[in-house]
Parts: sequence; C-alpha cells; structure tokens
Amino acid sequence: MPASSVTCPFCGLLCDDLVVGLRDGRARVEAAGCARAVALFPAPPQGQARVDGSPATWPQAARAAATLLAQARQPLIAGLGCDIAGQRAAVMLAERVDAALDPMDSTAQQRNPFPFQDSGWMSTTLSELRNRADVVVLAGTLGAYQPRLVERCLAPTLSSPFGELHRRIIAIGSALLRPAAWPAGADLANIIDLPNLHLAEAFGLLRARLAGQRLDATALHGVALERFDALLETMHSARYGVLIWSAAELDFPHADLAVRAMAELVRELNTRTRWSVLPLGGGDGGTSAAQVCTWLAGYPPRLRFVNGMAQSDPLQRGADTLLAAGEADALLWISAFDPARTPPPARCPRIVLGRADLRLDPAPDVFIPVAVPGVQAPGMLSRMDQVVTLPLMAPAPADLPTVAEVLARITQELGHAAAA
Ligand code: SF4
Repeated sequence: MPASSVTCPFCGLLCDDLVVGLRDGRARVEAAGCARAVALFPAPPQGQARVDGSPATWPQAARAAATLLAQARQPLIAGLGCDIAGQRAAVMLAERVDAALDPMDSTAQQRNPFPFQDSGWMSTTLSELRNRADVVVLAGTLGAYQPRLVERCLAPTLSSPFGELHRRIIAIGSALLRPAAWPAGADLANIIDLPNLHLAEAFGLLRARLAGQRLDATALHGVALERFDALLETMHSARYGVLIWSAAELDFPHADLAVRAMAELVRELNTRTRWSVLPLGGGDGGTSAAQVCTWLAGYPPRLRFVNGMAQSDPLQRGADTLLAAGEADALLWISAFDPARTPPPARCPRIVLGRADLRLDPAPDVFIPVAVPGVQAPGMLSRMDQVVTLPLMAPAPADLPTVAEVLARITQELGHAAAA
C-alpha cells in the first residue's frame, strides 16, 4: 500500500502531496513527484562503510573519523545536507572540536543576507504567493531548482480561499526563461530578455522611474525604456504583488547589489500598494542549516568555533576558501540527499557521510553511508520560506544509521581518541 501525503525532501519547496510506494526495498514515486523526486527517492537500501578503502562497520568508521578529527587543529564540517537532527548534531560536534561550519550552497545563499542585514525586506510565503498574488515578477529565474514551483504556486487562474484570482506573471532576466515551462494562460508578452548580470541596473532604473526621474537614455542593454515603464505600471496596479528571485541563479560578481535593488523597489512600491519579496532556495537542507546554526550558535553560516565560542565570518569561512588556502586540516562532508553533491577536492583527510550511492572519486579516508531523511528515516526540515518545519516520513526504511546517530557516535568516540 503506497504512502500518501509524503513530503519530498529534495528541494526547498518540500511538496507534501507525493504518493510513494515500495519496490525491491526502494521507494518509488507513484504520483505527484517531479523528475527530480522520481530520480532521487529510490535510494539504495544498503551501503558499505569504508576506512582507507577497506570495508568496516559504521561504528568502526565512526571511530576512525573521530581519530582524524581529534588530530586536526582546524577541522571543517561542510555540506550539511541532512535533516534538522543531523544539523543539530553537526553544530554540537563543531563546538566540541572547534570546527568551521559551511553548508553546501552557502556561496549562493550569501547573496541574500547582506541586503537583508542592511535594511531588511518585506517577504511573503509560498501559501500567500499561491492564494493571493495577482502580479508576480520572476527576476532571473523560473524556478530551475524548484521544479514544481509553477504547478504548485503560479497557476494563472485560481479559486483561492480569498476568491477568484487571475494572476499576471512577468519575467525579467536571461534566456533561461523557458516558455515551455510557463503555466497555460500566462502572459508571455511580458518577458523582458536581459542578461541576469544587468538586473541590478534594471531594478535601479525601475526605482528611478518610480521616483519620477527623467532619464536621457532610451534603452538599457537593448531593452527600450517603454518596456520598463510598462512593467512598472503593471507592478503599480497589483493588489498583492510578489517579486521572486533565486540566489543560486544570480551567479555573477556582486549579485547582492541586484538583490538589494529588488528589495528596495519592493519597499518603495509599498507606499502605494502591497508588494513582497520571495527568495527561492533552501535545497539540500539549506534553510534548515541556516536556522539550526542561528538557534544554536547565534549566527547563521558561515561560522567557526574557537575555544567553544562561535565566530561569524561569511566572507572568509567558505569551504572552498578554507580548503584552497590550506586553512582546514580535516574535512567532514555531509550529503544525505543528492548523490551528485560530492565533497570538494581537498589535500587534507576527508570524512564523508552520504547516501549509499554518493559518487565518490577519489575515495575519502572514511565513508559512512547514511539513511536518506524523508525516504529511509523520519526527520524534520524547514521549508524555504522559513515559516513551517515539516515532518518527513520514511516510506522505505533502511538498515542505515542517520546522520545524527553517526555524528553522536563520532562525538562519543572523541573521548577515546583523545585518550589514545
Ligand atoms: S519540486 Fe522539489 S519538493 Fe517538489 S517534488 Fe520536486 S524535488 Fe520534491
């Protein structure tokens, strides 16, 4: 009997309507999942722990991992692709061994906090987007990393709890906006094709026009000024507007300036009508990692513990930066969701906690296969809009330890390693 209303853990949307069956010990999506969910739910039910390439039990591997961490002076715990219990255990271990902590998508996610810390922003939720937004502007994204965003939240017409909704959707950004992915009935005339690199200028221009500034230019990077004026007019006419971007898709230097321009435009539009922002993201447990680090350490990632005290340094504590500079002498990488999210290259000893089919080449010093949260073990994850934490089921229970169990064992073994 397949399980229904299963929450999918494989992107920040956390769709909670999947139907998942069980075949040959592996979970199979039978209804409602996207291609990503269909590909990732059938995780292998078994895996082999290894130390220096040789088979070991997972407790033996945990002991070897503890020895490597005890010998390190500046360990790095990175990836953090797991559920909230695993991330809590990771923060506790980092405090114990004075490690740096860095989630796998922090480079992209760091584009949001600077504008938010400087001036804040008015944000909304996925539910409000779905049920209230009558004008939606997609800036540089069509939800490439959230495959069911359009289906779940952007239907052009909707009978919502607040009445009949007719939605206008406008896209501004590079040609990654694929018309085939548009919801039927969406207003395709309103695509402003502009490289994402120029989004800061585009939203700066919109702010200037909103403030009544006259501009001598007639176009911005080939897009006539009238197009921007038409966009502004549509934004003005909204009863509940939502501006969406995806930090992962703003992959150019100083992208935080584009985020800042968008957030400021929304703030200024709110003097006349109601607008909110909705940043997309949060895959591989990213939203949960940010929240757990903040709850337990007082800072969001990136951070480091020194003498048991947390220090925040988002510009210097990135895993890539630390590894390239030789400032980490042991890496513990956690990736329990996606077999393609492999550890970065490192010259130091590598310990990997990952789903059994994680692609590892070269092999790490220690590998411990773990249960996939939401597939093989229950758990909890925070949705990307940060307003709900959803329970995860285990439609295909497996005889694999959870990330939290392995990290607790490593922490326990640290005492033995120090005494040895
Ligand atoms: S859109 Fe995301 S959460 Fe929804 S089914 Fe696909 S991968 Fe899972």
